[in-house]
Amino acid sequence: MKSRTSATSKRLLTRPKFPKRLLKFPKRCGCGLTWPALEWLQLEFVGVMDEGDDRIELRHCTCGSTIAMLAAVVAKAANER
Ligand SMILES: [Zn+2]
Repeated sequence: MKSRTSATSKRLLTRPKFPKRLLKFPKRCGCGLTWPALEWLQLEFVGVMDEGDDRIELRHCTCGSTIAMLAAVVAKAANER
């Protein structure tokens, strides 16, 4: 993967403990809709889960399902706007 990431986010992104679907935009919901980073930020915020040192952000897809994304990945995408 060729992207300029800080050492910290690179460490997060290469961690095996999270499945890829938590680490990359666009986020795909089980209903088939996909959410690029900017649209993710518009979805209804549900909360965050602590996963050790990391946090996972939860939001509602428009279908009603709760979908999850690593908070560090969301923050990075938001900063790159
Ligand atoms: Zn959905």
